[in-house]
Amino acid sequence: MIVLKFGGTSVQSAEMIDRALDIASSYLDRAPLLVASAMAQTTDSLVAIRDAAGAGREEEARAILAAQRARHVRTLEELVSGERLEATRERLDRLFAELSSLIKGLALLRECTPRSSDAILSIGELLSTAIVAARAEERGIPTELLDSRDFIRTDDRFSAAAPLYEATNRLVRARVKPRPGHLLVAQGFIGRTESGVTSTLGRGGSDFTATILGAALEASEVQIWTDVNGIMTSDPRVVAEARTIERISYGEAAELAYFGAKVVHPSTIQPAIETGIPVLVMNTRDPHGPRTCIVERAEGVGLRAIAGKKGITLIHVSSTRMLNAYGFLSRIFATFEKHRTPVDLIATSEVSVSMTIDNTSGLKGIMADLEEIGRVRVEADLAIICLVGQDLWKEPSFVAEVFTALNDTPIRMISLGSSDINLSLVVPADTLEAAVRALHRGFFDSGG
Ligand code: ASP
Ligand code: MG
Repeated sequence: MIVLKFGGTSVQSAEMIDRALDIASSYLDRAPLLVASAMAQTTDSLVAIRDAAGAGREEEARAILAAQRARHVRTLEELVSGERLEATRERLDRLFAELSSLIKGLALLRECTPRSSDAILSIGELLSTAIVAARAEERGIPTELLDSRDFIRTDDRFSAAAPLYEATNRLVRARVKPRPGHLLVAQGFIGRTESGVTSTLGRGGSDFTATILGAALEASEVQIWTDVNGIMTSDPRVVAEARTIERISYGEAAELAYFGAKVVHPSTIQPAIETGIPVLVMNTRDPHGPRTCIVERAEGVGLRAIAGKKGITLIHVSSTRMLNAYGFLSRIFATFEKHRTPVDLIATSEVSVSMTIDNTSGLKGIMADLEEIGRVRVEADLAIICLVGQDLWKEPSFVAEVFTALNDTPIRMISLGSSDINLSLVVPADTLEAAVRALHRGFFDSGG
């Protein structure tokens, strides 16, 4: 079997839903399970509804509901007719009635618990899949619409619930029966706790659903259909010559995820990683175009991609007392822990430590505490350039080429990942684009 996951933009309109179904029907002989997100912007609108209702602004919540209802019904009417239209419209109406009761409840209580938030957000995927399944039937595709809450079991950390794998795998195998010639349709993102309450896996969680299902059903692959041609060698908005990476390892993709390559998040493909199932990233608008295959180990040595991220702050702590002493690093890290600020890159010498952060909300407090430990210097407006590739160090000329390409760029810090798959450089933010373009030219355009 095969899992086809369509993101919000891939089901955002009647036209896109038909494109998604063109793709799904071309895989009918591979026993496809289609997992869909909510139509683009729906979850954001549901968040707005939740916030308005929870603050007692019921009118505002209802106005957003009305707009969402109109949009979903209009899309359905473009795709389905006759009795099927009536039946599916009733289905949508029941979901909007449920949403309406939730608004009432929240507005009365003037509060919103994570649990009621999940009840509201889950409606987006229930709506989109009802439309997708109805359209598939309308097109004569033998279709079964499933309710993912019947088999995705989660803990009760609402808004970011974690799957309970034992129960989930058992339920999935019992209730989801892929077969050639049939299309199964299920919601991404949503699940249910052991006590039967609706939960969600966290924003962007539909990819997670897809790989959970793929792993449970031993899929031959999980295809993530989105609005870009896979993972690119660099951000195409910065580097015009950026191109799709054909094959990339899970580890390389994970490094890139931190840097704007938001195509797939490593935590959401964990079930595929653990079971060795390839994850393909494909473009619904360009189904035969370039795509990326994420695999356990991609062949070939060398640079795979260059990513960049602005908004980086560098903190240096130096102290001669650090020389030959121990305990400095743990005191420094305790400070970051206290202020709940993750450190991304680190470089140390005998008498100093340099660290980058991208969340500066706790910076004042961090500095005050670090000043107890040593002399502190902060540099803001920096950027990280991350070069990702398997066994970069097996190519002795690699570092030389990096520095040649960055001839004019002042490098503020260097960090070589222990994973052997990334070299990160910190540079002034206003030099980022030019530096990334120079590196891309150096490594990818000259056939290097
Ligand atoms: N609809 C959810 C969200 O927007 C889940 C997803 O799209 O993956 O976060
Ligand atoms: Mg997504």
